[in-house]
Amino acid sequence: MRRVTFIAGDGIGPEVMAAARAIVEASGAAVEFDEVVAGQRAEREHGTPLPRAVFDSIEANRIALKGPTQTPFGGDYRITIERRDPQAGSAKRTYPSISIALRRELGLFVSVRPIRNYPGIPSRCEKVDLIIFRENSEDLYVGIERMVDEGTAEAIKIISERGTERVTRFALDYMQRLGRRRLTIGHKANVMRMTDGLFLKTAQSVAKARSEILVDQRVVDALCMDLVMRPEEYDCLLLPNLYGDIVSDLAAGLVGGLGVAPGANFGADYATFEAVHGTAPDIAGKDEANPMAAILSGVMMLRYIEESAPADRIERALGEVLKEKRAVTPDLGGSAGTRAMTAAIIEKLKA
Ligand code: ATP
Repeated sequence: MRRVTFIAGDGIGPEVMAAARAIVEASGAAVEFDEVVAGQRAEREHGTPLPRAVFDSIEANRIALKGPTQTPFGGDYRITIERRDPQAGSAKRTYPSISIALRRELGLFVSVRPIRNYPGIPSRCEKVDLIIFRENSEDLYVGIERMVDEGTAEAIKIISERGTERVTRFALDYMQRLGRRRLTIGHKANVMRMTDGLFLKTAQSVAKARSEILVDQRVVDALCMDLVMRPEEYDCLLLPNLYGDIVSDLAAGLVGGLGVAPGANFGADYATFEAVHGTAPDIAGKDEANPMAAILSGVMMLRYIEESAPADRIERALGEVLKEKRAVTPDLGGSAGTRAMTAAIIEKLKA
């Protein structure tokens, strides 16, 4: 049995993650979940959104299936993490959000987000089959901001050669394993000549050594327009952190919305699997959330641990439920709840 850390999270997290968990368990995968509490419930119960038990569990299991966690909006909310660093002794670090704290503490330097059409799901575009590689550790997300004076705020954008090389190499290796052929680098190097300029130049120079993958580049605003007008022409995208965040949601919108976009974060030692969507407080607790993104993140997790037969079974069962359209959530044009859609998928799995 492979132990996997399980975090339900906030907002719609507990609902969609219960679905993902039940479906992974019903698939016959040799997985055992180790549940820990993170997010606002942990803040209430333990005084911190990321208690030590979360890191202990992920460090032991190396893999986590994670729901969205809510970071209070605005103000000067910061998360302080105090952990023993084998080299530096005890160290305190602060981060602007729970997800950023987790990704940075665990060294998860890339998010991978497959975005594609699914039969039976109404969408704006057809033949979309994208993989987005989002750099996860740098850019404006380093969280260094300050008020210069009362009416002026400043944020620091960091792009490094090392960080860009690392994410580019990862993207190329990942593509090679899947037989994907074209990588488009998104940037704004015409304005941010140093930061985005370095990202573009470094990514291009790493990619030059891989003749089997065609590499091109697009300024990110033009890339957004192109993705809306002709997404079928794109294969894989490599983006710095902020553009990666924005383009992921845009791309999810092309194929049916955030409810259908799974994701994974990878580093040298750990991997966490989590949907692109956040906590969706507008529909939390209403049994309305689409569990598909969480379920497909679970499928990505199963493929990562080489449980491909249960992963195939889940995709097949989900595909049948989508095609029948009887038990799908409102965002997919149906009227079923999260629980009814989950039950329908489990029924197909057992059939
Ligand atoms: P957060 O602050 O945690 O990012 P958010 O509400 O700003 O939360 P998302 O949770 O990413 O952002 O979602 C934006 C909107 O998309 C939600 O308000 C919801 O209406 C819709 N949405 C997101 N996820 C789902 C889902 N799984 N099923 C149905 N609708 C969803």
